[in-house]
Amino acid sequence: SATPVKVAVTGAAGQIGYSLLFRIAAGDLLGPDTPVQLRLLEITPALKALEGVVMELDDCAFPLLDSVEIGDDANTIFDGANLALLVGARPRSKGMERGDLLEANGAIFTAQGKALNDHAADDIRIGVTGNPANTNALIAKTNAPDIPAERFSALTRLDHNRAISQLAAKTGARVTDITKMTIWGNHSATQYPDIFHAEIAGRNAAEVVGDQAWIADDFIPTVAKRGAAIIEARGASSAASAASATIDAARDWLLGSAEGDWVSMAVSSDGSYGVPEGLISSFPVVTKGGDWEIVQGLDIDDFSRAKIDASVAELVEERDAVTQLGLI
Ligand code: NDP
Repeated sequence: SATPVKVAVTGAAGQIGYSLLFRIAAGDLLGPDTPVQLRLLEITPALKALEGVVMELDDCAFPLLDSVEIGDDANTIFDGANLALLVGARPRSKGMERGDLLEANGAIFTAQGKALNDHAADDIRIGVTGNPANTNALIAKTNAPDIPAERFSALTRLDHNRAISQLAAKTGARVTDITKMTIWGNHSATQYPDIFHAEIAGRNAAEVVGDQAWIADDFIPTVAKRGAAIIEARGASSAASAASATIDAARDWLLGSAEGDWVSMAVSSDGSYGVPEGLISSFPVVTKGGDWEIVQGLDIDDFSRAKIDASVAELVEERDAVTQLGLI
């Protein structure tokens, strides 16, 4: 049978982890033929809760789940990992300034970047879900000089999926009819969900919608503020959908995006579309065998240009803030 893949997950006792681990163990990430070894990292006070999660994983008797290891030392948990899903992050608490948030997460992601650098397998791929995801990925990348920059990404797939869902609801199309959706920039309220290149059953989505006001005043803010709407309704932040998007992103990265389509991923910029080199910014990408390539040659009109520039400017600010803090 196939060699097991070692998948490390941080923040494994959290809300997203509670959905994510069971789906990975069920084979939703690597498919029905690949056994999985889970390596679960938590902060020390959460280890007891994590033991409970492991008891539940055991009780599912998942045929593909080869082993589970837990701990609070990144060097041990990341040892030999092929894929690392960095979900755990320090949430913004009441009265916390943005600088405090970046600093608290900086401590986590510098340490994890170094641990990945020193201990992960040569084929390691790293996906960051924990917020502020793009800048956390930038910090980890910068602290892992021996790992190629292309191996780091931050999650914008949930935004991508939300955008597909909103467009399907507006047009009566099925989600499977919608292709070539793009999220540009930062996974934050400044993100730009772009339907000008998207297609609905092969027809240009913006033309099918035919309503620029809906795009600007309804679609874009609905997608960008969806997280807040879910907190408002559910009394807790989105977790199952964030886990599902984390799986979609990692699966497509490793196994490939669909023919004739692309996905959104925040990756290290090569300067494409005027995004400064090295920033972790979301682009349309095609993926194959663990590699990604930014889709080239898309026409960017003035409306889209301004939206992309605004989100990228925020990423530059975040980068400057963590540079000043000495984190990168
Ligand atoms: P969640 O599991 O709900 O969220 C984890 C992270 O994912 C947060 O940073 C959250 O950002 C982010 N996230 C990204 N996209 C989304 C989305 N669409 N919806 C919701 N969240 C999103 O948080 P919990 O507090 O339940 O769990 C976090 C766990 O991480 C805790 O168990 C904690 O102990 C652990 N942790 C582990 C560390 C480690 O392993 N070294 C370090 C730090 C924490 P946002 O805050 O913006 O919602």
